[in-house]
Amino acid sequence: MVLIRLDRVCKVASSVFTRYTNSSTTVVWTSAFCSNNKFTLCRSFSSSNKKSKKTVAMLDEEAVRGKHVLLRCDFNVPMDKNTGKIADDTRIRAAIPTIQLLRGKGAKIVLCSHMGRPKGKVVEALRLAPVSDALPLLLECPVIQTEDCVGEKTANVIKNMSDGDVVLLENLRFHEGETKNSLEFAKQLVDTTSADVYVNDAFGCAHRAHSSTAGVVDYIAGPKVAGLLLSKELDYLSGVVNNPQRPFAAIVGGAKVSTKINVLESLVEKSDKLILGGAMIFTFLKANGLSVGSSMVEDDSLELAKKLMQRAEATNTCLYLPEDVVVADKFSEEAEFKVVSVNEIPDGWVGLDIGPKSVAAIQKHIEECKTIVWNGPMGVFEWPNFENGTFSVGRAMADATDRGAVTIVGGGDSVLAVERCGLTSRMSHISTGGGASLELLEGLVLPGVAVLDKAQK
Ligand code: ATP
Repeated sequence: MVLIRLDRVCKVASSVFTRYTNSSTTVVWTSAFCSNNKFTLCRSFSSSNKKSKKTVAMLDEEAVRGKHVLLRCDFNVPMDKNTGKIADDTRIRAAIPTIQLLRGKGAKIVLCSHMGRPKGKVVEALRLAPVSDALPLLLECPVIQTEDCVGEKTANVIKNMSDGDVVLLENLRFHEGETKNSLEFAKQLVDTTSADVYVNDAFGCAHRAHSSTAGVVDYIAGPKVAGLLLSKELDYLSGVVNNPQRPFAAIVGGAKVSTKINVLESLVEKSDKLILGGAMIFTFLKANGLSVGSSMVEDDSLELAKKLMQRAEATNTCLYLPEDVVVADKFSEEAEFKVVSVNEIPDGWVGLDIGPKSVAAIQKHIEECKTIVWNGPMGVFEWPNFENGTFSVGRAMADATDRGAVTIVGGGDSVLAVERCGLTSRMSHISTGGGASLELLEGLVLPGVAVLDKAQK
């Protein structure tokens, strides 16, 4: 099921529509529907992504033993340009539990993934060899890599697999059909791999309808299920966020209102407290008539900011805008800086972090909540003079987890900030996907999730 809201800009609605043409049902909702209370709305969203998806853990041994399982992973790992080695193997590690589960059940596991953007051509630097080198150490078993992801040679390797064997296909995006969701390429992939079962564990790619995340399911007769990683992301970003333990706070920061407006529009309906930070606050402050010096402002988002504040009022959501900020005399790590009230930002100065009063207020909000989701840093945390807001939010969230609250962090920079403070293990869930986690928070149905089997009641 796909929900498309018609009160957005037509362009957005039509692009969303195009992206979800693979799905079986479409429900269109309008602003009239939007005026329902936030709880009704949340339930409508949650029913689509999370509710009834079958997971790999639900498959009994009979369903997979001796069967070829096509397992879509996200092995698009960052590479160190100087050494040519994997810079961060988090994504490979994240795939291990699903692979081990399938090995334990005697499946013949055919892994597939993309790496980078080779645009339909073979690019030597984007081969998956570093991944096939890393996997045997993590899995403690051999991994055979094929020269291509389709074709006779690959098919022969796969035909000779024994139960528990693991094969890694070469980069899917060496074929242009992959990103076009070409059904021909999808069929070729299924024919080559003799896939009986399909498992999608590539959360970071689940918001894309590509051949390996969507098209293939039309050609696989057996179960099509979510891997452990994908299902955990759905549990948190769709399940918990849509049916949270209340009070529920959403903390949104980062650079721009325009890239987060859909998330903000969704969270203002679902949360009890919507807490804003980062550069985007200056657009809100300006929309409120304040002078923000040389801080980053998106003038074309002023109306959106106003509408969001009105919506918060209408839905009785507490929208917290920082009351003080750290301003700098220039946008530089070495800049002179001071704390000022948001009413007193001097001309020519730029706001680069939230101030101590705001930090204390946000900590208090966090303390009062049982579910907290965070996306986007509070300031330019990359520079020590402006890291306090972001790191304090991280610490307050970690303390909240210790108290029994559910804490979820998503978004590249906020995850990095949490890692830098050594707080990763103290969050309930750290999301592995950038775009996909934002889309789940927006309440969208991910194409890679929509195509999976429903769990039986
Ligand atoms: P996502 O990955 O979902 O986009 P994110 O957590 O990576 O989310 P971004 O929206 O990409 O967040 O924004 C992060 C960037 O915003 C950081 O590089 C940070 O330095 C910058 N930033 C935060 N506050 C300010 C500010 N006041 N002025 C300028 N830049 C800021």
